[in-house]
Amino acid sequence: MIQLHDLQFEPFISEAEIEEAIAKVASQLNADYKDENPVFLGVLNGAFMFASDVIKRFEGDCEVSFVKLGSYEGTSTTGAVKTLLGLNQQLKERRVIIIEDIVDTGNTLEEINKILKKEGVADYQVATLFFKPEAYKKEFNIKYAGLEIPNKFIVGYGLDYDGLGRNLTKVYKRKE
Ligand code: 5GP
Ligand code: MG
Ligand code: MG
Repeated sequence: MIQLHDLQFEPFISEAEIEEAIAKVASQLNADYKDENPVFLGVLNGAFMFASDVIKRFEGDCEVSFVKLGSYEGTSTTGAVKTLLGLNQQLKERRVIIIEDIVDTGNTLEEINKILKKEGVADYQVATLFFKPEAYKKEFNIKYAGLEIPNKFIVGYGLDYDGLGRNLTKVYKRKE
């Protein structure tokens, strides 16, 4: 068990399970995009580790860019998503793969969808390491999801609780 700020967390997803989920998503992306010269668009901060690990396994040409959005305060979403660092890359007519650490309600994704539509991309899909189907409220299909998890608050492997825990190599869930 570990403590971050005022909360206790217990081990939930092992390094081996994370590896397996990354390998699964990477092989799907290789199958679908190898000759497509896609743009991987990572969503900071949470996706930095997954982006690094999954893009390393991509076998074709690709470009890599990041945006920064935020809606979480503490352990729950505020609903309002803010753009903190915007696009600095031409995405017109490009095939884009959004790289997310976790898709929860889908609010963040919806905000990115709006941005990408405005940019006139050719098409876009989402590749997320973790997905909470019970919490997801949107229509957009999550095509690449490493692991489906229950509606619990997790930290580690890029995901934080008030700034802490991103460096953890396995994933922990809040102790109930
Ligand atoms: P959504 O907008 O889909 O509700 O949430 C997306 C963002 O909220 C994620 O990219 C992530 O940064 C944060 N988030 C959602 N669920 C969790 C969670 O269980 N743990 C942590 N640490 N962050 C989460
Ligand atoms: Mg995220
Ligand atoms: Mg966070």
